Amino acid sequence: MDPKLINDCVHCGFCLPTCPTYVLWGEEMDSPRGRIHLMSQHVEGTPMTPEMAGHFDACLGCMACVTACPSGVQYDRLIEQTRVVVEQEYERPPQERAVRGIVFSLFPYPRRLRMLRPTMGLARRMASFLTRVNPSLGAMTALAPRVERRERLPRVVKARGERRAVVGMLLGCVQREFFPQVNAATARVLSMEGCDVVIPPGQGCCGALSVHSGLDKQARRLASRTVRTFRKAGVDTVVVNAAGCGSSMKEYADLLGYDPGFRVMDLSEFLAELGPVAVRHPLRRTVAYHDACHLAHAQGVRAQPRELLNGIPGLELREIPDSAICCGSAGTYNLLRPEAARDLGDRKAKAVGSTGAELLVSANPGCTMQIAAAMRRAGADIKVAHTAEVLDASLRGAEL
Ligand code: SF4
Ligand code: SF4
Repeated sequence: MDPKLINDCVHCGFCLPTCPTYVLWGEEMDSPRGRIHLMSQHVEGTPMTPEMAGHFDACLGCMACVTACPSGVQYDRLIEQTRVVVEQEYERPPQERAVRGIVFSLFPYPRRLRMLRPTMGLARRMASFLTRVNPSLGAMTALAPRVERRERLPRVVKARGERRAVVGMLLGCVQREFFPQVNAATARVLSMEGCDVVIPPGQGCCGALSVHSGLDKQARRLASRTVRTFRKAGVDTVVVNAAGCGSSMKEYADLLGYDPGFRVMDLSEFLAELGPVAVRHPLRRTVAYHDACHLAHAQGVRAQPRELLNGIPGLELREIPDSAICCGSAGTYNLLRPEAARDLGDRKAKAVGSTGAELLVSANPGCTMQIAAAMRRAGADIKVAHTAEVLDASLRGAEL
């Protein structure tokens, strides 16, 4: 924990109203200011107690405080450093270790996730029973989405019409196995907008979940493998359609200590910069767009997805109240801290429901699963889609 970064905090408290854990519990030590105070205590010699680790673990890493802070405190870097220290110095209780062991030996490995695909329907039906056995296990099963048929993407999807760019595309882990239709739509949209899309085979996890959980060694190993994969593919831009993955990949130079040799862009950021050429067909839908924290707060990408959606004739975009507050997904947070995540999910479901929109659009698979599950709990099943799927439907003149 860098004392210089800690000392940037002037304790003004402007960040408090945007912090989801402070909003939930009203506890100073579960606010950004309180956590920075704990970091400072630890740097000055206070050992990592279970209480202290608990306050750090309760942070979603949503970075709403980074957006709110007028003093430019780099809480994102602070909490990442802190999580590494927690992992090194704090001995977790056996049950917690077991749950984390399952989560981190499963989610960063697409092949292992693939084995879960046939069990998803059954898992959803057993969610309430499994919640009684273990809340994390219950949360894992309740979140299970309805998976679509896997579409095998070729190594290169050629540009339609005149080629305007060549880009690499990250498949992701959860995105690839649980939302294959999103990757297929992403490749089609890029192609229809004049891009050659290079999809290197053998892609693994980008390391995002490990970075966000303080698993430094695992994060570096996965990140350097991803860098090698895209360097070998020879692309200078990698387009990412999952907010959590994109935000971590943009920090590769800090994590690995060297320049990865390509720039990373969120799909909406890339498309907005490229500018539209493909014809947009009308899509008569009311849409609530959800700002994923790792897109809005961590990457500052808010205007571009709205610009793309507003560019579709007939589509009516509705804003979700309190959109800066996290939905509770936050990487693996909803598996590791299911109760808090559930409360935040319920708040978000209520806010989404108040828009009266018929379709929820989000650019992060974790948020999509979290909000869809919360809407189901509230008895307000809503159709969900990724920005790529909405654009794809409009470009193809298809139904959504
Ligand atoms: S990252 Fe989010 S949950 Fe953590 S302190 Fe900042 S606002 Fe609160
Ligand atoms: S993190 Fe920023 S907004 Fe929050 S108390 Fe410190 S200086 Fe103020």
